[in-house]
Amino acid sequence: MADNVEKLPFFYGNITREEAEDYLRQGGMADGLYLLRQSRSYLGGYALSVAYGRQFYHYTIERELNNTYAIAGGKSHRTPVDLIDYHSQESDGLICLLRKPCSRPRGMEPKVGPFEELKEKLVRQYVKQTWNLQGAALEQAIISQRPQLEKLIATTAHEKMPWFHGSITREDSETRLQNGTRANGRFLIRQRDNKGSYALCLLHHGQVMHYRIDKDKAGKLSIPDGKKFDTLWQLVEHYSYKPDGLLRVLTEPCAQPEGEADRRPAIPHNHPLQGATSGILSRIKSYSFPKPGSKKSVNPPGSRTTDNLNTYEMKLEKTKNIEALPMDTEVYESPYADPDELQTATIDRRQLILEDGELGSGNFGTVLRGTYKMRKSEKTVAVKILKNDDSNQAVREEMLREAAVMQQLDNPYIVRMIGICEAENLMLVMELAGLGPLNKFLPKNRHISIKNITELVHQVSMGMKYLEEHNFVHRDLAARNVLLVTQHYAKISDFGLSKALAEEENYYKAKTHGKWPVKWYAPECINYFKFSSKSDVWSFGVLMWEAYSLGQKPYKGMKGNEVLQMIESGERMVAPANCPPEIYDLMKACWTYKPDERPGFSTVELRLRNYYYEISQI
Ligand code: AMP
Repeated sequence: MADNVEKLPFFYGNITREEAEDYLRQGGMADGLYLLRQSRSYLGGYALSVAYGRQFYHYTIERELNNTYAIAGGKSHRTPVDLIDYHSQESDGLICLLRKPCSRPRGMEPKVGPFEELKEKLVRQYVKQTWNLQGAALEQAIISQRPQLEKLIATTAHEKMPWFHGSITREDSETRLQNGTRANGRFLIRQRDNKGSYALCLLHHGQVMHYRIDKDKAGKLSIPDGKKFDTLWQLVEHYSYKPDGLLRVLTEPCAQPEGEADRRPAIPHNHPLQGATSGILSRIKSYSFPKPGSKKSVNPPGSRTTDNLNTYEMKLEKTKNIEALPMDTEVYESPYADPDELQTATIDRRQLILEDGELGSGNFGTVLRGTYKMRKSEKTVAVKILKNDDSNQAVREEMLREAAVMQQLDNPYIVRMIGICEAENLMLVMELAGLGPLNKFLPKNRHISIKNITELVHQVSMGMKYLEEHNFVHRDLAARNVLLVTQHYAKISDFGLSKALAEEENYYKAKTHGKWPVKWYAPECINYFKFSSKSDVWSFGVLMWEAYSLGQKPYKGMKGNEVLQMIESGERMVAPANCPPEIYDLMKACWTYKPDERPGFSTVELRLRNYYYEISQI
């Protein structure tokens, strides 16, 4: 939640307007007494409730597209707290100044909404079943893509709801509502078209009322002249606790008839949460997402059909136009994660087809695109080919050392080695990251958002955290060595200078000065030849600077020794244009002179993660 709002003593979480009024009443109802609560209609939004003249006033605080907060038509603020501070000085359209926060009663925590409660579980289930992931791969997918996954869940959650019947006719909806308990307030939602028009069908004294739900230009859903919502499940939650213009409140969800069971979610009668009445979402029980490509549904073992309620398979259709997630690509998991594919360090030349057209080149030779024929499948790969000349024994050894390091690494944010092939040339076969190096991609894609850059840089920090945990130092971390699989998926590459540290060591000491990328090196590397994960953190700070400056060269026009002098004098690069202050602060922390005082990758990754979640919040 934005800026730790949940820690504020006057934030109440997911309470209703009426509950807010009760708390303000208990707080004495003085003019300007206020509290903050979570919006029950807008994802990521809040509501401000204020007492004045023995009355209550409620203002919706919307989260705007650029991650600022505003009361409709009002001034934008960076955080809800800034907005409150502002309105304690200026009423600016509010009924009065905000004078006194109404704190939560002792011992009361902000109320967690029913969706919040289930979100974690749904996200996990979704990732597990959609991409068939488990263990570290599952955790890493959730950490790196949480904002996208939460959005996916929030906007498609209605598809798993018992009351969502898909595109059935008006007549069918009436038949379904009339069959069964005929309880007042029994309801369902049907889809009217593919453009976001639905109908809420409600049984009232034996008659079915149809309320049209339309989507406006901003994507908000509402019954004509009614309150607007981001999602259907919020709309249903709202009308379940008050009629607000309908003939009555919604009571009992009308579940799908049995014939539809193969495409609907489960809502067994006897679910432990069923009695909790905390909301519609709490009535879901088992979740079973189809595996990619599977068309046929399978009821979970032990599931039992009970009268008109059934165990359904939940199906989360991928929202159209949603960007490909790293897990959708074929390089998220190692090709050898499939037990049917035998891992071989050496690849038979006959299994490898090389294509024309270079992906890149270096002093060792070229990198070509190729196809690797595995036992079960074929894989597009990148092949680093050592050029054939007698003088390059040292380069050959370097390439073999690089292969030896890469072979020990297995992480979604690191380019994996698939194998070595010794034939007409020595070849290193790797996963393909087709969009190439980050420093070249950014200047060609200058429209890229801060959020997108943060997503990529955060992924690099996850890969580096993995290296740190496994005692490897990279020693050449720079934007040129971050390769993109997609615009939303980065991998660390080039392990030519990397070293595995011995158990008891936390640094590697180089014997001599080599051809070093000094502008990326921490002072202890240059002064004492000492390399550690902390010196990689310094390089990571320079990489961040490159990323947020859209691929500019660091310390432009300066020589290596001038850079060192600048660092020794305590000076650092200035922030790139439009760089968020939180990000520049982190860069400067990475450029802490003493390695012992510099943060490690576990800290860096967490800071980036928090910032990324904050700016991507729904
Ligand atoms: P390197 O010497 O490892 O930095 O590789 C030189 C260039 O080859 C890189 O800058 C990339 O353009 C390209 N390249 C290297 N590895 C890959 C890969 N796995 N996928 C796609 N392109 C690659």
